[in-house]
Amino acid sequence: MRAAEVIARCRTLASFSEDTDRVRRTFLSQPMHECHEQIARWLKPLGIDVRIDAAGNIRGVHRGAQLDAPCLLIGSHLDTVPNAGAYDGALGVVIAVALIEELHGRRLPFAIEVVGFSEEEGVRFGTPFLGSRALVGRLDDALLGTLDLRGVSVRKAIAQFGLDPAEMAHAELRQNTLGYLEFHIEQGPVLENLGLPLAAVERIAGQNRLEFTFLGHANHAGTTPMHLRCDAIAGAAEWIGAVERTALEVSGLVATVGKIDAKPGATNVIAGEARLTLDVRHSSDDIRARALENLTHQAHEIATRRGLSVREATVLNQRAVAMDPFLVSEIERAIAKTGCTPHRMASGAGHDAMILAEKVPSAMIFLRTPGGISHDPAESVTQSDVEKAIECGLHLLDQLASSPEGYKRTNRA
Ligand SMILES: [Zn+2]
Repeated sequence: MRAAEVIARCRTLASFSEDTDRVRRTFLSQPMHECHEQIARWLKPLGIDVRIDAAGNIRGVHRGAQLDAPCLLIGSHLDTVPNAGAYDGALGVVIAVALIEELHGRRLPFAIEVVGFSEEEGVRFGTPFLGSRALVGRLDDALLGTLDLRGVSVRKAIAQFGLDPAEMAHAELRQNTLGYLEFHIEQGPVLENLGLPLAAVERIAGQNRLEFTFLGHANHAGTTPMHLRCDAIAGAAEWIGAVERTALEVSGLVATVGKIDAKPGATNVIAGEARLTLDVRHSSDDIRARALENLTHQAHEIATRRGLSVREATVLNQRAVAMDPFLVSEIERAIAKTGCTPHRMASGAGHDAMILAEKVPSAMIFLRTPGGISHDPAESVTQSDVEKAIECGLHLLDQLASSPEGYKRTNRA
């Protein structure tokens, strides 16, 4: 069974880890070499030689019918978070290999390039998408100078991995790139809730990340009457409740306060300062902007009423990214051909596809994630869902091969 083999291969890749008893494979770590060697062993019998580009991405091309045929990229990322599961990222690369195997040497009007990105999660350098940024020409000097916790720069890490950062231009997409396709686990409960194995991703949500600081007056917890306090934690707590209520009222909006630090941080002292993070996401940039404005307004209203002050600092403001409408509708057709009900959804998480979408038509196919569990050893997929994904991918390749619109469109950039 090809789906069983795909799952077994994901587990094989998961065995290449920096930790002995759990999965951790960060950017340009030693186990990434083993991961590349294993993928090369799967591609070799298909007549595909791999190369590792200057950003550490593994690339292998299944030639098209003609030498100058345009190229469709299919892949995902090979790095993981600490204590990861076996499927986030790796599954998309392994499915790409399986699709080429299922062609049994057949040449399409376009080439297929399998790509396994070296870095997506942002674990080692605190900046995500280092691998895919190289393909769109955005792994620049500033990023190459970024340091990890041990003071090693991206540039030095690349050299230590045996690659030449000066060769970065060769990692970039070629002019005749047809598009980018990524299979990925949903990492959420939506498809399981709907009872569906697959979805076409039509948008990747935009997101804001901010830090809010409520300032009051620290004072004695025993001698300061309740009506004479300026309690920063109590004000922050009222606002946290408002954040949750506001998000519940707007369809598709997610807003999260994930972290609180209070000062001075003692049992018998009223907090003078409470620092909180806010993460807001929606597939519509307008709705997200309005929600953020509303939440910021509420923070100030609560602070003023309580005799506190509040200030906010933006950490990230990232626009939503649309997937390519033509590819999305072709994915829906392909899903329908597998006998499943097509479903369109937005991705609340960021993915390499949103980086590639800057330059080439890009789209994603989500696979149901049992229990919605991801970034955890319990992360899983079912064999039948993987089988549907492979079937969907093969239909999609056939559709693109028989549609002039599908393979004649090349790089929009
Ligand atoms: Zn991922």
